[in-house]
Amino acid sequence: MKYNFNAGPSHLNEEILERISNSIKNFENSGLSIIELSHRSKEFESVIEECKVLLSELLGLDSDSEVFFMQGGASFQFYTLPFNFLRTNDCVYYANTGRWAEKAIVEAKRFAKVKLAGSSKSDNYSRIPELEITNENARYLHITSNNTIYGTEYSGIPDCQIPIVADMSSDIMGRKFDYNAFDLIYAGAQKNLGTAGVAVVIAKKHFIQEAKEGLPPMLSYKNMIANNSLFNTPPVLAIYIVLETLRWSIRYGGIERIDKTNRAKAKLLYNTIDESNLYYGTARKEDRSLMNVCFKLKDKSLENKFIDFTNSHGIIGIKGHRSFGGFRASLYNCIPLEYVKVLTDVMKEFERKYG
Ligand code: PMP
Repeated sequence: MKYNFNAGPSHLNEEILERISNSIKNFENSGLSIIELSHRSKEFESVIEECKVLLSELLGLDSDSEVFFMQGGASFQFYTLPFNFLRTNDCVYYANTGRWAEKAIVEAKRFAKVKLAGSSKSDNYSRIPELEITNENARYLHITSNNTIYGTEYSGIPDCQIPIVADMSSDIMGRKFDYNAFDLIYAGAQKNLGTAGVAVVIAKKHFIQEAKEGLPPMLSYKNMIANNSLFNTPPVLAIYIVLETLRWSIRYGGIERIDKTNRAKAKLLYNTIDESNLYYGTARKEDRSLMNVCFKLKDKSLENKFIDFTNSHGIIGIKGHRSFGGFRASLYNCIPLEYVKVLTDVMKEFERKYG
């Protein structure tokens, strides 16, 4: 038995994996594998349609929202977003809350003047900074709603008058949130939404109208929407895995129950860390992420022993990001509370033995 706390690609549960493996052999009694199916077939069109409907239902999206799929992961969106929206004399705001935000900033700088709305770089990204927007004509504010590497998240929506865009790769659908407050959301699917190979983009129709015309079609949001994510052959299998993940999320009880379980999981792990004399959390308490729990050992010399000990109990994927060190347990939606109980019991046992 493995307890997989990887930061992404992340654990998918048995129920989802079972359905995917059946569909690899025979998709919905069509006699064809999902990976043999034409992307222009009625069957695949209905996969896309159902994804859009279920995602809208799960996130409570309003009728002004467009949902579409693009290849290239979230990193591709770092470039695609400014490419679609920014003109040379534009001003745009980005909040710098970590490595992924930094990468998004680098791409935006290719197109326009980027102003920092706030940064927590001087504190090694251990908190969410206060944001300040002074130019109300700026094209948008970009935030990274959950910072996967540092374990911080925005607890609310930034208060500002300009459109807000969020990289939600590591927290989309992980909590109740006003998803309609964002003019555009993008997320690589490999954490809460399924598997790598596709990014989900959710954009307000009124905001999309401001996107540039005449762009190369593979990079154009307007073109992707006009072609219902089927301009060329999309990553059929990855989109289908998103569908099975969404179907499971609905069967599980939707965002209400997901939110409740995720809070219980995070509370259990943070309490274990806070009550111990060996572990300490690295993120400011008010900004702690529900999805990625980052912690370190007060006695650094025990780190290798801790990894060996947890591995010997089947726990994998808890090494911190190589740029940050320490440990990180990612508690994405498919991780059940029981896995976190196993992890915290093992952490306590380790502390009793070696702490
Ligand atoms: N943004 C965030 C918040 C992430 O966590 C990641 C990946 N861990 C990325 C962007 C990059 O995603 P991708 O690998 O899909 O390009």
